[in-house]
Amino acid sequence: MDKITVVVPCWNEDEAIPIYYEEMNRVIKAMEQETEKEELEFELIFVDDGSTDGTLRIMKEINRKDDRCRYLSFSRNFGKEAAIYAGLKASRGDYVAVMDVDLQDPPRLLPEMYRILKEEDFDSVATKRSTRTGEPRIRSFLSKSFYKFVNKISKTEIVNGARDYRLMNRKMVDAVLDMSEYNRFSKGIFGWVGFRTKWLEFENVERSAGETKWSLKKLFCYSMEGITGFSVAPLSLASIVGVCFCLLSFLLILLIVVRTLIWGDPVSGWPSLACIIFLVSGVQLLCTGIVGQYLSKTYLETKHRPIFILRDSSEEGEKR
Ligand code: UDP
Ligand code: MG
Repeated sequence: MDKITVVVPCWNEDEAIPIYYEEMNRVIKAMEQETEKEELEFELIFVDDGSTDGTLRIMKEINRKDDRCRYLSFSRNFGKEAAIYAGLKASRGDYVAVMDVDLQDPPRLLPEMYRILKEEDFDSVATKRSTRTGEPRIRSFLSKSFYKFVNKISKTEIVNGARDYRLMNRKMVDAVLDMSEYNRFSKGIFGWVGFRTKWLEFENVERSAGETKWSLKKLFCYSMEGITGFSVAPLSLASIVGVCFCLLSFLLILLIVVRTLIWGDPVSGWPSLACIIFLVSGVQLLCTGIVGQYLSKTYLETKHRPIFILRDSSEEGEKR
């Protein structure tokens, strides 16, 4: 008998959860009918990421009437990455899916994903959007540039348009859980652990209810997480720029000495001097900033703070 766990991170989603639950039920019924009922078991783990609306109440209601549905509730908003980690950790299934609650990760793909893992030689089935319709242009553009950039400087492949929506077998889930880093970037982690992944494409769909939780600022911080988490190229960039500037300054010194010997030394050229000072100090600050980015991540990592803190959960006594 196979058990499929579905991890659903939710942050202020009281409108979306009932719609999701209904849709998911439909998919589960269809899957159970397709296979023999006794062969397939489902478990839904709703993770309340410190919501301030009725999210937790709705999760409790669902848990009361459907014992396949469990919930975890954080003490504050820890972010989607932490919610995914908590859900994976609590999962008991042989196969585990991560799915958004807003139906932008269509549950109807689940039967196909399960079939692929059962019949073909893959460890996970991941999804990506073939289009980005319904998304602001500037956001699409920035996302595309980010993926181009990060793939250039990182050895881990981070697929453009990839969703966090995927179904994994137990081996891969355990590998992901072994990566217990504090600064989490799932798209990179899924790539880093390796395993054989099949990609499914689907058309972007609009949110079922509520609003996106990602502001440009949040996306920017998220992309920094991706860069610093999976590449140290920016650090080398700092040294390369440093070497270039040193070489340049040697050449300039030579030039000025020769020029002074030939034409004497009339005092002039302060504007160029001011520009050079601005340029060089700018580059220095930039490089210090890059080092600072990595240092701050290291700092947080060495504190070994918990990735999430539970305030409530469907299992009594379940603690981190
Ligand atoms: N989410 C979360 N914590 C956060 C932000 C988002 O658990 O801090 C959840 C959210 O409830 C949703 C999923 O992550 O189920 C994806 O969020 P959203 O739909 O806002 O992102 P988008 O689809 O726009 O990328
Ligand atoms: Mg969404």
